[in-house]
Amino acid sequence: MPPSLTDPADLVRRWRLPEAALPDVAEASARFPLKLSDHLAERLAGLPPDDPRVRQFLPSADELVEREGFVSDPVGDAKVQRAPGLLQKYRGRALVIATAACPVHCRYCFRREYPYADASAVNHWPEVLGALRGDPEIHEVILSGGDPLSLSNAVLSRMVRELEAIPHLTRLRIHTRFPTTSPGRVDDELAALLAGTRFAPAVVVLHVNHATELDTEVSLAVRRLRATGAVLLSQSVLLRGVNDSEDALAALSEALGALGVVPYYLHLLDRVRGAGHFEVPEPEAVALVRALADRLPGYLVPKLVRELSGERAKTLVPLTAPSPSGARE
Ligand SMILES: *Cc1c(COP(=O)(O)O)cnc(C)c1O
Ligand code: SF4
Repeated sequence: MPPSLTDPADLVRRWRLPEAALPDVAEASARFPLKLSDHLAERLAGLPPDDPRVRQFLPSADELVEREGFVSDPVGDAKVQRAPGLLQKYRGRALVIATAACPVHCRYCFRREYPYADASAVNHWPEVLGALRGDPEIHEVILSGGDPLSLSNAVLSRMVRELEAIPHLTRLRIHTRFPTTSPGRVDDELAALLAGTRFAPAVVVLHVNHATELDTEVSLAVRRLRATGAVLLSQSVLLRGVNDSEDALAALSEALGALGVVPYYLHLLDRVRGAGHFEVPEPEAVALVRALADRLPGYLVPKLVRELSGERAKTLVPLTAPSPSGARE
């Protein structure tokens, strides 16, 4: 893992925040630890707390507020384990929580409360592999996490080789936050792994919420991924104060399109404890995506989805006209 910033006092110093900010940062970090990649620690230094990138990663006192309906396991992950670190909710595809580690801790993350230290696949690999081998109905493996690219190239390529040996698996997908937070992780070995797998083209889903995340190094990393032949998609979370405007979402879609990434999902926030201040109400979300659809080609308009526990797929939020009471306040 590349170096990261985890100490609240370090953050206050490096970002030149007022000393008085430290107690809140420390208290929020005690609930969900601060973690920032070196890349972002450097890039975001000196920016104001309401910068759309800073807001995603700066622990804040808002996280300490309890809100009705915000719970520890909003998406029902605990109920769908096939093996430790292997979740199956949807037909034909299984999600591997490859490792608990992430390059950053996004303050809105639904996994902020998830007990995954002991439940990651890398620690139970034979069981995970056994479960996948034993179920010919599974055709796609999604390496997720945490972040699968937290694993070394050596471990990752061993996993991929073993998955390649299971004949009924036909697709490999990787969900990752690394390219947009720690772009140096997209190195030659990783590129070779993606280009050379029998699953090629692999599908890589990039997590990104704001156009400014696609800085020069990040763009280079994305181009490098494209050069492997991988299919590149993005997923974003609609977040108050980050990307909750038509202009921000349009700029994100256009910046992704320019890099050859197709915007895939725009998620409504999962209602996890400590993230309530990021929520954008559904009628407002619908109005935003309708406005996007009005302005951009269809392939640059992400699907607005919500994850409902027990459903057989991500739930598409219909873009019917919002009622006047749902208008933006
Ligand atoms: C989101 C998710 C998937 C992938 O869903 P797609 O609609 O295929 O992108 C698969 N498994 C789980 C458990 C998920 O949460
Ligand atoms: S990288 Fe993904 S899993 Fe990790 S904290 Fe951010 S949103 Fe959550």
